[in-house]
Amino acid sequence: MNKIRLSKSSISRLEKDAVCEVLDKEYLGMGEEVMKFEVAIKEYLDTKMDVVCVSTGTAALHLALSALDLENGDEILVPTITYVATFQAITALGLKPIACDVCDDTLFIDVNDAKKRITSKTRVIMPVYYASSSKGIKDVYNLAQEFNLRVVEDAAQGFGCLCDGQKIGTYGDILCFSFDGVKNITSGEGGAVLSCDKNIIERIKDARLLGVEKDSEKRFLGQRSWDFDVKFQGFRYHMSNIMAAIGLSQLSRIDEFIIKRREIARGYIKLLNDIDEIKILNFDFDDIVPYVFVIKVNNRNELRDFLMQNNIETGIHYKPNHLLTKFRTDYSLPTSEKLYNEILTLPCHFDLKFEEVIFVVEKIREFYAK
Ligand SMILES: *Cc1c(COP(=O)(O)O)cnc(C)c1O
Repeated sequence: MNKIRLSKSSISRLEKDAVCEVLDKEYLGMGEEVMKFEVAIKEYLDTKMDVVCVSTGTAALHLALSALDLENGDEILVPTITYVATFQAITALGLKPIACDVCDDTLFIDVNDAKKRITSKTRVIMPVYYASSSKGIKDVYNLAQEFNLRVVEDAAQGFGCLCDGQKIGTYGDILCFSFDGVKNITSGEGGAVLSCDKNIIERIKDARLLGVEKDSEKRFLGQRSWDFDVKFQGFRYHMSNIMAAIGLSQLSRIDEFIIKRREIARGYIKLLNDIDEIKILNFDFDDIVPYVFVIKVNNRNELRDFLMQNNIETGIHYKPNHLLTKFRTDYSLPTSEKLYNEILTLPCHFDLKFEEVIFVVEKIREFYAK
């Protein structure tokens, strides 16, 4: 049997043809395709928020924070269990990530823990969609309102999801998506920032192109600014036409992606139901589109080794950031540290076959029957 991959892109004729079309036009940088992708995202989400496409999800986070004009040493509340991108985007700007604990049943930021860590320097709270779920986001916004904080949502894993029946990307302060190779949809690499705040959006549009004023509109018309001003720090974080072409093709396939990812999750839940050693996270699978399927188990490392021997690739999302040298804290985060030994991510991607889901569960059953 071939290796069962943890995650992968799903590339059809559509993406290949779209890329060739851009190559044939010999305009590879940021131009018309990127504009079309931004419009298509806005239409798909049916949102009032503006959409700015950028080079990666990490760039989206970096740009979102940079647009807030924070000061060196300002503090950002962030769950410790997240991809290291969230923390790196914070420290890239000289800001201080304040690692917070997460909830045991969702791995979403524990708002009570976050509240304890607020100081006079706290400016932003960055909730992270864990395994695509943002259940509990209302409490984050309540806390933000009470303490006058901005909210930058790391919704890297949230594209196509709902929360309490409401589509992600239709409400909130500032929201960042990722379109990296294995996310719910991909543009090869890529990301997007969404906000209703016009000042933030204008700032990010310029900042993705080295701070060159109004260069985005020019490039969408196949032109460039030659006589321009720069007022703020900018970055080379724009999206290319090649990426946007992949993204547009993927967006046209999103309905089938959503159905399949939810089917896989429901399949796991049903089949794992009678294995006592397995705990499922408390998510609403009618709402989320699971980017990863995470279980909590005992003997995680032994199970992971056993699955690997059976050609099943698994993952650990994620090592708590406050345990890394760069982000080490002088306090412990007990729930996250406990969870770090329990979490295991099972294969979940569009091309995963149902027989493979059954095989994975059979092997887990075999492990615990030993
Ligand atoms: C994928 C991801 C990112 C970063 O996105 P890239 O496009 O890979 O830069 C950030 N945060 C979380 C939670 C992610 O899953």
